[in-house]
Amino acid sequence: MHARKIVVIGAGVIGVTTAHVLRAEGHDVTLLEASPAAASGTSLANGGYLSAAFCAPWAMPGLPMQACTALFNRQAPFRWRPDGSLSQLRWLRDLWAHCNAADFSTHRQRMVRLALLSRVCLQDVVAQTGVSFDFQSSGVLQIFRQSPPSQIVEKRLQELQAFGCDAHWYEPHLVRAMEPGLSHSVRIAGGLHVRDDASGDCERFVQGLLAWNQARGLLFESNVRVDSLELDARGERLCAVRSRSQRWQADAFVFATGVDTARLLRPYMRVPIVPVKGYSVTVSLAHRDGTQGAVIDDTSKLAIARLGQRVRLTGMAEVVGHDRYINNARCQQLVHHYASLYGPLPEEGRQLWAGLRPMTPDGTPIIGATPVQGLYLNAGHGTYGWTLACGSAQLLADVIAQRPCAVSPDAYALDPALRALA
Ligand SMILES: Cc1cc2nc3c(=O)[nH]c(=O)nc-3n(C[C@H](O)[C@H](O)[C@H](O)COP(=O)(O)OP(=O)(O)OC[C@H]3O[C@@H](n4cnc5c(N)ncnc54)[C@H](O)[C@@H]3O)c2cc1C
Repeated sequence: MHARKIVVIGAGVIGVTTAHVLRAEGHDVTLLEASPAAASGTSLANGGYLSAAFCAPWAMPGLPMQACTALFNRQAPFRWRPDGSLSQLRWLRDLWAHCNAADFSTHRQRMVRLALLSRVCLQDVVAQTGVSFDFQSSGVLQIFRQSPPSQIVEKRLQELQAFGCDAHWYEPHLVRAMEPGLSHSVRIAGGLHVRDDASGDCERFVQGLLAWNQARGLLFESNVRVDSLELDARGERLCAVRSRSQRWQADAFVFATGVDTARLLRPYMRVPIVPVKGYSVTVSLAHRDGTQGAVIDDTSKLAIARLGQRVRLTGMAEVVGHDRYINNARCQQLVHHYASLYGPLPEEGRQLWAGLRPMTPDGTPIIGATPVQGLYLNAGHGTYGWTLACGSAQLLADVIAQRPCAVSPDAYALDPALRALA
């Protein structure tokens, strides 16, 4: 395949991994970013989980009932506020339509397959670049305060093992041995441990990978907001993108623009991605204190990860438009749930953050070509963009090169008809 000039727009974890893979294939790559630095959007302070086992769409059979109950509970992790846009209503309608067992199973398989590919691709990237990011390979542990019925545990283990995940049920004493910081006043009924899942700091990874590529010829331009597209005379092919003061011409363009993708491309195509807000709280903590690994509390849905000398708590899902306001009360809820498991966190130096997950209604990201020639998408990774990033970048590079992929590209296509048939 001959080298081409490719512009990647958006320097989150998806854009930077995409730029890395395309540059490694010999293309002349320019990466454009609206903010002053890479990883300043949703990739900044996410949960840090690299977890194939927990990759699953939101759209599942019980969701409509949970969402209705949440409307009357201010503490519920889920929250919805209409933003007055037609796109949000359409998205909710489509999400609802996928809340059945068959669609859940299809989309979960797609996400897990891509996550497993990603795991291999991430290992290759790390071996090639030596980038460090507080990587921890001790697995992910889901703890249960009430015993789930044994047939449910058995079914879940079988499912995970069928996917190829190294998953096991741990009795309470083994959970406590693995997480000695767990408070003795909290009842632990057991834990599901996935040994081959991992965690790591997404922002550090993005910064490290970007620096490695810049040193080898990747052109990175920050403070550049792409605001218009220039199509050829027939309106079929994308020739250039423009910011307020500059213009970039290329053979191909990849939009890795996260939650901004739908707005940016609205005049040309419908991209079903809406923002779903979540929060994180990061605190410095000596290594022997608090969480040792990556722990999900099944009761509160709190996700906790040890990132070197820090502990990060993440959770909540709010469909509230593009509002990035950090709601202190929601962050305090995360801290409260953590305290019920591990005891209080230090007051000083808590970093509160809100991020917008770029979510598709079926949970599966959109990766590949679009109706406009030369315009490719790598966006909509929702809850698991860090987990799916390296595999998504590889898939996109395969699609651009028109060569076979390790996963079926149609399953991630923008075209709903292709997605349905894949
Ligand atoms: C609370 C929370 C916890 C999470 N936890 C996890 C987890 O544990 N594991 C996991 O795998 N995932 C997790 N995620 C999801 C993950 O963070 C996202 O899926 C991922 O960061 C999305 O990456 P992205 O590159 O698509 O988006 P972003 O990181 O938002 O990057 C998009 C970039 O495009 C730029 N951009 C947008 N428009 C333009 C334009 N017009 N011109 C130029 N640049 C533009 C933006 O400035 C931005 O930097 C979590 C998310 C949240 C909110």
